[in-house]
Amino acid sequence: GCPGRLLELRGNIRVLCRLRPGTPSSLVNLEPGPGGTVTTCYRGRQRRFHLDWVFPPDASQEEVFRELEPAVLSCLRGYSVCIFTYGQTGTGKTYSMEGPPEDPGIAPRALQLLFREMGTGGQHRVTLSMVEIYNEAVRDLLAPGPPERLAVRQGPAGQRGIQVAGLTHWDVGNLETLHQMLSLGRSNRATAATAMNQHSSRSHAVVTLTLCAASSQRTPRTAGTLHLVDLAGSERAWKAGAAGTQRKDPNGAQRLREAQTINRSLLALGGVMAALRTRRPHVPFRDSLLTRLLQPALGPGTTVVLLLQISTRPEDLGETVCSLKFAERVG
Ligand code: ADP
Ligand code: MG
Repeated sequence: GCPGRLLELRGNIRVLCRLRPGTPSSLVNLEPGPGGTVTTCYRGRQRRFHLDWVFPPDASQEEVFRELEPAVLSCLRGYSVCIFTYGQTGTGKTYSMEGPPEDPGIAPRALQLLFREMGTGGQHRVTLSMVEIYNEAVRDLLAPGPPERLAVRQGPAGQRGIQVAGLTHWDVGNLETLHQMLSLGRSNRATAATAMNQHSSRSHAVVTLTLCAASSQRTPRTAGTLHLVDLAGSERAWKAGAAGTQRKDPNGAQRLREAQTINRSLLALGGVMAALRTRRPHVPFRDSLLTRLLQPALGPGTTVVLLLQISTRPEDLGETVCSLKFAERVG
């Protein structure tokens, strides 16, 4: 790779695309690499989508991370970076973001890289928080007790975004503790998943790492922020709702509500990114809790990376086209 590529594009949104591994399909054709394309053939219509980077079908975790490395490193120089995984449930969002222990994904690799770069000199203070957004409510995944729903309120005048009351921020001194905190957060999310039936694919998980240059001053200046966001499945509301009704699912109504709130927040995210990209004067941050929470991380001068996960299976083609349209709108 060519380091610095992402940095040159600071202030912009970059869209990268990764395939869910599986049988290649003649309905989804790739031109991998920078400025790559994905061509779909859906309902007899061919469409070509342009992306900033398309990974080849067999791309490794390492290959994916290599493209994100410059952005992650820029946090050490005071920049705000936000990395999202977007796509239909089952396309590999969590695999890319977290990965299995034997083949770690973006989050563990990013933490390792940052700690390696910071060294042991103690010039930085690292703070970690982790929340989940489900049905327009925020839950603290790193609270000392059971994950609790937290109240949000508008931040003080002059400050962008909202404040989450009582959110736990952990001071993390070393990589090992950081990994332990991450798996704690992950298991808190997973506990809810069994209780609420695959709840994890219906919630957004947001890991926030703040790097402060710990100088001699009493109040260290915020040096940089890294947000790692594993978004809820992007499959459309009507589908989830219809499935609920068909199976005479007693939770059908709840299912539909979940799907609608996800839909709304992903739409809001798309709206915010599109407004920022086209430098529209009004950016609709207030349209969802997700965009309100991430407002400081999405504004001008930040780096935003969207890793689009898509499936090549013929039965997923409709969703694949939808995901690519989302990318086209924001990128
Ligand atoms: P999502 O979070 O988008 O719902 P997952 O990350 O849970 O999807 O992936 C669905 C399944 O596919 C998991 O079993 C995961 O291990 C597997 N998987 C996804 N991407 C890859 C990949 N690149 N290599 C190997 N297995 C993968
Ligand atoms: Mg997932």
